[in-house]
Amino acid sequence: MSLGLILLGPPGAGKGTQAVQLSAKLGIPHISTGDMLREAVGSGREVGLRAKKYMDAGQLVPDSVVVAIVSERLSSADCAKGWLLDGFPRNEAQAEALDAELVRIGQKVGAVMYLRVSAEAVTSRLSGRRMCSNKQCNAGYHVDFMPSKKEGVCDKCGSALYQRNDDKPEIIRQRLQVYESDTASLVARYRAGRLLREVDASGSPEEVARGLMAAVDAVRGARWSS
Ligand code: AMP
Repeated sequence: MSLGLILLGPPGAGKGTQAVQLSAKLGIPHISTGDMLREAVGSGREVGLRAKKYMDAGQLVPDSVVVAIVSERLSSADCAKGWLLDGFPRNEAQAEALDAELVRIGQKVGAVMYLRVSAEAVTSRLSGRRMCSNKQCNAGYHVDFMPSKKEGVCDKCGSALYQRNDDKPEIIRQRLQVYESDTASLVARYRAGRLLREVDASGSPEEVARGLMAAVDAVRGARWSS
């Protein structure tokens, strides 16, 4: 049986960090629109050139661009047994487009894991975030909460760390505003559809991972027993 999961929550809730571990544990692909867009920007592809100005400004990339990327990815063979969407959908139109695409390929959303955390906490997480510049590694750090052993250098692969353009203070504010205006309503949408599972994302990455796994287990348990 396939398991389609969505990770929902504000920027800085820890979706990326959690998604990497969870997808590995569940053996399903991690589909991050942010990572795919950054990869497209880095490789200079047409879609990346179109997306970059929105990303640098902390705005949403046009729906047509992200919906096309996600639809193509979901049709890949490795998504037949499930997937973990991270950073998509981000507004009502994307949620509608996802539903339509899933009908087309004969799948559905199994659950939406909502990482709940305050705006203050995400602001401090985002402003201290550092990423590995090696795209194959993509490890994430935080200058205070999860520093690398040697400043500015990735523990895992030795590449330089960098701060994402959109993790600068004024862009963080813009991204949080976009979350409130465009994305936050999806919580109500999926709650109404009885798909929402709330996870307290205010703790350490390990604590959040435990809460998330427990919520996913509850979803899986309910599915097997029904
Ligand atoms: P993220 O890594 O998920 O924080 O995404 C980084 C940036 O990529 C966002 O601020 C947007 O500019 C863009 N982006 C990622 N996912 C989406 C999406 N589903 N819709 C529109 N823009 C997106």
